[in-house]
Amino acid sequence: LAATMAAALFDGRLRYVTDHPVPARKPGWALIRVRTAGICKTDRELMKGYREFRGVLGHEFIGVVEESDDPVWTGRRVAGEINAACGCCEWCAQGLGRHCPHRTTLGIVNHDGCLAEYCVLPVANLIEIPATIPDERAILLEPLSAACEILEQLPVRGEERIVVIGDGRLGILCAWALATVASDVTLLGRHAGKLALAQWRGIKTALSADFTTLEGADIVVEATGSGQGISAAIKLCRPRGVIILKSTVAQPQNINLAPIVINELSVIGSRCGRFGDGLQMIQDFPDMPLPKMITARYPLAQVEDAFIRAARSDALKVLLDISL
Ligand SMILES: [Zn+2]
Ligand SMILES: [Zn+2]
Repeated sequence: LAATMAAALFDGRLRYVTDHPVPARKPGWALIRVRTAGICKTDRELMKGYREFRGVLGHEFIGVVEESDDPVWTGRRVAGEINAACGCCEWCAQGLGRHCPHRTTLGIVNHDGCLAEYCVLPVANLIEIPATIPDERAILLEPLSAACEILEQLPVRGEERIVVIGDGRLGILCAWALATVASDVTLLGRHAGKLALAQWRGIKTALSADFTTLEGADIVVEATGSGQGISAAIKLCRPRGVIILKSTVAQPQNINLAPIVINELSVIGSRCGRFGDGLQMIQDFPDMPLPKMITARYPLAQVEDAFIRAARSDALKVLLDISL
């Protein structure tokens, strides 16, 4: 195995390099040859200074296990959960490794990411992708699992009025995940093209301009990560309703929180989900139009162009083909 590899390195600016060290595999970890990787909004937030990240970007990938302690994993096509827990603190002992204070996060915290020929993750984080699911569906496992996390945190009976704010990739996936259990889901966004693409299982759509007609929602999912989105969520939620915050906001915001108290709203922060839940949803709903999310594909060497494409307002998911 070569000692260096091609990678998309962020060291204050994004660069394609061919001499980045292949990451060292710790005991219990796997070395993964990346096939396909996705660019996520979080990558672009990191480039604006979020978490002061330096290193190889990327946390969404499908790859093949090249090397691990247990040879049974070798050659398996996998996706991976991105938080690597320490395994020995009190959170880890309770099975809550996702909240381990010592965890690293692939491509986000102290851990080189997957916009590279190779990445490493604990074998315990890996999930094998069935051969029936192609890369362009499986690559959405991470954000789809994050969308599924809402159903894990909040029991949805099915008759609630649900509004999802934000017609980006995460908002659309949240709407799709919620539409698997609820019949009254409205997606609110700013892009007619994205709203049209999001239609599935009777999801209603509305442009942000006419959003006041949606007031009184039982559940509002905020997936824009903007101050206006959070303010709109507070406005649309009925008294005693639930707001799910689904997006990290890099810039501090001035938001009037008084209505949360006055209307006794519940606010739930919702982050990543379990890949098993996302994979189950992909298998249970083979008609979920996941490939519509793929805006463009680039070779890794054109990573800068790929990020420019991903930053355009009509982009949903831009992929990098690394070693197909
Ligand atoms: Zn992401
Ligand atoms: Zn721990």
